[in-house]
Amino acid sequence: MQYYSTNGNAPIADLHKAVVKGLAEDRGLYMPEKIKTLPQVFFDNIASMSFQDIAYNVASAFFGEDVDLDALKDIVYDTLSFDCPVVQVKDNIYTLELFHGPTLAFKDVGARFMARLLQYFIKQEAKNEQVNVLVATSGDTGSAVANGFLGVDGIHVYVLYPKGKVSPIQECQFTTIGKNITAIEVDGVFDDCQALVKNAFMDAELNQHMKLTSANSINVARFLPQAFYYFNAYARMKEQGKADNFVMCVPSGNFGNICAALFGHEMGLPIKRFIAANNANDIFYKYLQTGKYEPKPSKQTLANAMDVGDPSNFARIYDLYGKSHERITSLISGATYTDDQIRETMRACYQDTKYILDPHGACGYQALVDGLQPGEVGVFCETAHPAKFKEKVDDILGIDVAIPDRLAAFMKGEKQSVPMTKDFADFKQYLLSK
Ligand SMILES: *Cc1c(COP(=O)(O)O)cnc(C)c1O
Repeated sequence: MQYYSTNGNAPIADLHKAVVKGLAEDRGLYMPEKIKTLPQVFFDNIASMSFQDIAYNVASAFFGEDVDLDALKDIVYDTLSFDCPVVQVKDNIYTLELFHGPTLAFKDVGARFMARLLQYFIKQEAKNEQVNVLVATSGDTGSAVANGFLGVDGIHVYVLYPKGKVSPIQECQFTTIGKNITAIEVDGVFDDCQALVKNAFMDAELNQHMKLTSANSINVARFLPQAFYYFNAYARMKEQGKADNFVMCVPSGNFGNICAALFGHEMGLPIKRFIAANNANDIFYKYLQTGKYEPKPSKQTLANAMDVGDPSNFARIYDLYGKSHERITSLISGATYTDDQIRETMRACYQDTKYILDPHGACGYQALVDGLQPGEVGVFCETAHPAKFKEKVDDILGIDVAIPDRLAAFMKGEKQSVPMTKDFADFKQYLLSK
């Protein structure tokens, strides 16, 4: 399969190049030249298939031309070693729980899949030299990437995070695991971490010394596998006879997750329409209303993994629908919620149903409460386990959210990190010594 850039000024790439490079030369995002539709028989039988088997069929359509099918099957089954259930919350509102992976957040699937696909391509290269992944994080991405790449030989990961600025639960998810993961604690803010990573990619001497790559969320190998979730949602709803008039609602920040769902729709997945739920960062919502895309600096909110003022995957959605506002609004609607509304939703849902929403999922739930039409059945994504945001959830609901064993295990480990200044010369010296 060939991949083109959404900016239209870069050479066509194959999958190998798109995965290793991440971003095209013109800073556009890679898009597959065609999206294959899956045969009707697949949809006829989907309700009796497992999450893993469904995902393997979807993965074959995306990657089957470029990856040996046995290897692909191995990658898919290794990535999806957990479940992705649909749970009824209230009446016609269901949730797709995307938080049963190693770090209890939906980014686990993309991170693991990308790690294994990158490893597959590195092994094909003649030199077979170690690849070093640099990732700057304000919390969630670092834990998903670190755990996705954990133990994948041939790849070393450096996670740069701002000292004292990530929650203790998040910090222990990438500082206690060791092996091929090194946590670098930067005396600065998130932007300093990002600047160090960007400078490293541009530094000629460093790139001579070691092979560097990023595990950015715009990578095709990180965002496309998220489509697996939506085929599974459809299957599990169909199993219950609830898949007609099915509306999918995705709490969105960088719009990678919903973009993968829309790719699924292009492959024939019979979802009637989509809702993108935002927090107070309402750039996409405004675009739907006005047809104008006007990025802004992000605002801090309770649902902080969605605090994005210029969602990168907007470029993919825009391209997918031929830049047509009309086509986009006929399939996707939006919603936006303030922190007060998020708190209110979490309380109301808990009182009503006993279901504990996290602040991100709360935006999705409320968008269905407000937006479902008679006769429709809605499914919203719960993108993270509420225990990941324990301090906030406990405070808002006045409860003591139980910490799942997997999360507690991280917290028992010993923290190991390399202290670093925000001065690039220091970071460069450190990497040159490796
Ligand atoms: C990353 C993240 C989101 C937003 O997903 P996008 O693909 O960036 O739209 C929502 N919720 C949680 C918990 C996340 O970590």
